[in-house]
Amino acid sequence: MEKTYKLLTPGPLTTTMSVKEQMLFDHCTWDDDYKAITQWIRARLLELAHVTADEYTAVLMQGSGTFGNESVLTSVVGNEEKVLVCSNGAYGVRLAQICRQAGVPSVEYAEPFDIAVDPEKVAEHLAADPSITHVACVHSETTSGLLNDIEAVGRVVRQAGKVFIVDAMSSFAGVDIPMADWGIDFLVSSANKCIQGVPGFSFIICRRDLLEASRGKARSVSLDLYAQWETMERDGGKWRFTSPTHVVLAFAQALRELEEEGGIPARSARYAANQKLLVERMEVLGFKSFIKDHQDPIITIFTMPEDVEFTFAEMYAYIKERGYVLYPGKLTEAETFRIGNIGEIYEADILNVTAALKEFVDEKRDK
Ligand SMILES: *Cc1c(COP(=O)(O)O)cnc(C)c1O
Repeated sequence: MEKTYKLLTPGPLTTTMSVKEQMLFDHCTWDDDYKAITQWIRARLLELAHVTADEYTAVLMQGSGTFGNESVLTSVVGNEEKVLVCSNGAYGVRLAQICRQAGVPSVEYAEPFDIAVDPEKVAEHLAADPSITHVACVHSETTSGLLNDIEAVGRVVRQAGKVFIVDAMSSFAGVDIPMADWGIDFLVSSANKCIQGVPGFSFIICRRDLLEASRGKARSVSLDLYAQWETMERDGGKWRFTSPTHVVLAFAQALRELEEEGGIPARSARYAANQKLLVERMEVLGFKSFIKDHQDPIITIFTMPEDVEFTFAEMYAYIKERGYVLYPGKLTEAETFRIGNIGEIYEADILNVTAALKEFVDEKRDK
């Protein structure tokens, strides 16, 4: 077997052996056992979002997280409606791109990548343009590790009587999100983020009445959210087209393991403690954390030490050799890189990777 390593990337991430082992079985898709697994997952997702089945529902959608975002935006915003897309990172920009490409009426409110979305400015946009019917916002902007205050944005959106769509891809289950209390109508996340499954599907948790009202608005066959939901509801957990069976089995196991860990409170505490320890250790080595306010517990951007010269590629190769994969930066101005700490990553891993980084930087300084 090839040399293995752990992923310090924010999804796909390092999963447990027991999650991976679930994929050794080729499950049939149409029988009742399989449909029951899908139904169990859907019910469990509602619990994790602190909502009930009479008001909310969960839909699983094939593809990566972007497919989930695209499914919601192209299925629920009608041609006579308009979505305000808040962007302060690559994922927010992608939401706007999805709308433009699919011809979904949209307008963008953009902030620089190190500044949080401002609820006041969202309110101003809504006041200035009454034709806006929906607001879309990323929760944890994985580009920068910045956590937008979607609770405050949700309050403004609710006051204005609009529909609130949240890309909570990299935060759901890593940060507790009481969906109804925060006024979130559609929430999107995926299998390979904080629930710690493998890549292959996204999921949408949403208000049942709003989903029903979206019937017939979809611009795509495969990403039609209402049609996917309708099949799952009518047929007791059947997926409309081939479902990623191995991924679904692994995801069910990942949900059981989330429970065993102590649910979202325990998991979010582990992530937050690891992120804090990571920053402490990195700053001793001369790496500075880039985001000053609203840092999330998911992923951190670091700038390079000022007193020593090396490239990200050199450092990446050195650390990979020692069992960990780092993540390049997505900001353009400064030379930065990112370290994610979600997945099966514990205090010992943070200590190991920062020890290896110390060795690397010390070697460079000695030269
Ligand atoms: C991971 C992620 C996505 C989806 O990315 P995919 O590569 O399509 O899985 C979307 N938004 C955010 C904030 C993410 O972290």
